Amino acid sequence: VKYKDGVGWHDAEVLPRGPITLDPSAAVLHYAQEIFEGMKAFRTKDGGAAIFRPEANARRFRASAERMAMPQIPEELFLEAVNQLVRADRDWIPEGENASLYIRPFMFANDAFLGVKPASEYLFMVIASPVGAYFSAGAVTVWVSETYTRAAPGGTGAAKCGGNYAASLLAQAEAKAQGCDQVVFLDAVKHTDVEEMGGMNVFFVFEDGSLVTPPLSGTILPGITRDSVITLAREKGLTVREEAYSIEQWLADARSGRMTEAFACGTAAAISPIGVVKTREGEARIGSGTAAGQITGALRTALVDTQRGRSADAHGWVSQVF
Ligand code: PMP
Repeated sequence: VKYKDGVGWHDAEVLPRGPITLDPSAAVLHYAQEIFEGMKAFRTKDGGAAIFRPEANARRFRASAERMAMPQIPEELFLEAVNQLVRADRDWIPEGENASLYIRPFMFANDAFLGVKPASEYLFMVIASPVGAYFSAGAVTVWVSETYTRAAPGGTGAAKCGGNYAASLLAQAEAKAQGCDQVVFLDAVKHTDVEEMGGMNVFFVFEDGSLVTPPLSGTILPGITRDSVITLAREKGLTVREEAYSIEQWLADARSGRMTEAFACGTAAAISPIGVVKTREGEARIGSGTAAGQITGALRTALVDTQRGRSADAHGWVSQVF
């Protein structure tokens, strides 16, 4: 779908995947006016397909567009584009417990000019690809980056824009070099509080059964899985606090056993237990260090069963495509 100031959204079409043409001075290539979403379609029992909370992705996309001085795409147009692609790709939605069709809606500035100002022409596209399990092992290992931060107050941290990820690549590479699966970012002001991971939000579980997750401070991505987990946990009678939590406290609580579980959550891997947290000063094991604890496991089951239509959709989260 194309957009032009004064014209609006026009020329929607479904095409076979292939290269696109851009002018070398297309604004996105120079000023990175680009936003995206990540969502999944799951096979349902009767051979159909469903998407998890697509309206939430549409809303977050609109919020990202606002922050990046880009035009708003109507929620119905976003949802219709996604549904059309999933229907067109119906034979590509894999079966299997960890398999799904990953959907990537994105929008970028494609008019040709050099000059730092919001563009007046954009392209909105949706592509998709079958995917399997995101992590191969049971519990993931995380590396706390003390060199790089992801987002500063007033910046673009709460938007899902490509630039945030460009800035985090080196930190993710540092985590890999340390033998870890994901990077953990700290806040950019005090460098003490845990914010989120490279592509996931984080939760901590304590021995009294309560959960803590960093608040939506404006510098972390408001994860749709995070929001779903908060709801599911509260339904199970668990206390969830959205509050600042420092890396120092994380290490201390993991070592003392006050923290019994920790997990990462996001569209890519649903809920994955965190087994070990590593910093330059040392590391700490959480719980068994290798497997999901009881609460992590129960929340994962609740989430995945809802996504795959195996349990009642009490919140209207599941959108059947066909
Ligand atoms: N934080 C970041 C930086 C991410 O890229 C993602 C993945 N979109 C998340 C958190 C989790 O968000 P969601 O649950 O909506 O996938």
